[in-house]
Amino acid sequence: MDDLSRDETADVAVIGAGLAGLVAARDLRRAGLRPLVVEARDRVGGRTWTRPVPGGAVEAGGQFIGPTQDRLAALAGDLGVATFATYNVGRARIDLAGGREAYKRAKRLLTELEGMASELPPEAPWAAARAAEWDAQTFHDWLQGSGEQAAFGVMRMLTTAVFAAEPAELSLLHVLAYIRSAGSVDLLTEVAGGAQERRFVGGAQALSVRLADAVGGDDLRLGAPVHRVRQAPDGVEVSARDLTVRARRAIVAVPPVLGGRIEYDPPPDGRAGLHLRMAPGSTIKISCLYGTPFWRDEGLNGGLMRDRGPVTVTFDNSPPDGSHGVLVAFSQGDDARALARLPAGARREAVLEVLGRYFGERAARPSEYLETDWAGEPWTRGCFGGNFGPGGWTRYGPLLREPFDRVHWAGAETSAVWMNYMEGAVRSGERAAAEVIAALGVP
Ligand SMILES: Cc1cc2nc3c(=O)[nH]c(=O)nc-3n(C[C@H](O)[C@H](O)[C@H](O)COP(=O)(O)OP(=O)(O)OC[C@H]3O[C@@H](n4cnc5c(N)ncnc54)[C@H](O)[C@@H]3O)c2cc1C
Repeated sequence: MDDLSRDETADVAVIGAGLAGLVAARDLRRAGLRPLVVEARDRVGGRTWTRPVPGGAVEAGGQFIGPTQDRLAALAGDLGVATFATYNVGRARIDLAGGREAYKRAKRLLTELEGMASELPPEAPWAAARAAEWDAQTFHDWLQGSGEQAAFGVMRMLTTAVFAAEPAELSLLHVLAYIRSAGSVDLLTEVAGGAQERRFVGGAQALSVRLADAVGGDDLRLGAPVHRVRQAPDGVEVSARDLTVRARRAIVAVPPVLGGRIEYDPPPDGRAGLHLRMAPGSTIKISCLYGTPFWRDEGLNGGLMRDRGPVTVTFDNSPPDGSHGVLVAFSQGDDARALARLPAGARREAVLEVLGRYFGERAARPSEYLETDWAGEPWTRGCFGGNFGPGGWTRYGPLLREPFDRVHWAGAETSAVWMNYMEGAVRSGERAAAEVIAALGVP
């Protein structure tokens, strides 16, 4: 430790100021404990991020809330962050090989998957009777085995939209666990009646900003990447740049891929494998601003679904009053990886060509264009959340929430309900705080 390093003490060191870490800190405070939240970035909110652009601000990260996401809705209510309906009036542009027939066949496969998912114990997908069999194959293998060749384009589009990864990257059990944790395929994929139903006024990051205000500046350190968590018989020592926190317990609330970059002394049993194997997908999220949401006048709702890249999905992401237009475009999985390799000018051209093709010439000429490549964000390294490939759930699933002595784990990936969503992050923060409160014997 050099002379500039500060030593601080707290009851609980919370690593990561995303929704999970901040919700945990709020609950610890409510229980009369003192948390200290240590965050690598110079902002809070992690995978939620409202980025300013000339003429407005855009959602670069997580943004939607839908039915059954009750803990997130309760949090927004407590913090006074209102929601509004995602614009969904009119037709979506749909361009899928095989058209309606392909969609019908895909629906059959999705119904079959839902049936299989219902066999999983919600809290323990690895304990299902057929877990070993389902975890030994990729989702791609299962699709191939279904013989529904005609549905592959639709299934790939849905897979990359939900997981930001290709069917060949995912364990079949992972796909089933996701469906189980959300409740149904419709809840995952739909706008009305699904996870894309509503948005937050002012952007989803507002939740974290308000939580951080409530936690208080004294209990939050920004720009402090944690590199070591050491356990001693009487507590934990969390080392970040220029800062060492001594606490009774620690909550690690960072995505697994980054949890693996922290040195643990002693190392938690088996956890290194989990950190390596729960890999996030790839997404480039692109926001385009226009003077007006002109597509609405043509009876279009701004939605696009297509089975070829570089962009497969779009939404109308205009502000609630429609005072200007915003189209948000997603490039995901292999499409995002291919797009990322192009020079900036060629990326923009490729994305705008797609928008122009489906929403007219004006869509190819936005007043502002902003890309966020989450795989390139050093404190996220991919999104929407960690995915298990074959063998992951059965080997590492049981470790997801298992505390390691004085170290507890939070983050959207650790939630059995709405895993990898903001709802999952909130629930994980509440669960980890409750574990610590119980362990410290706080009445
Ligand atoms: C493009 C995109 C779209 C999405 N869309 C939706 C959506 O519409 N609806 C939805 O519900 N969810 C969506 N998600 C997912 C959602 O944003 C996340 O599930 C949720 O925000 C995760 O919260 P978290 O607190 O678990 O993790 P994070 O938000 O990742 O927070 C972890 C924090 O830890 C910090 N950190 C990492 N390493 C260290 C370290 N060593 N030391 C200190 N700090 C560290 C990070 O900087 C970060 O602030 C989306 C995500 C993305 C990226």
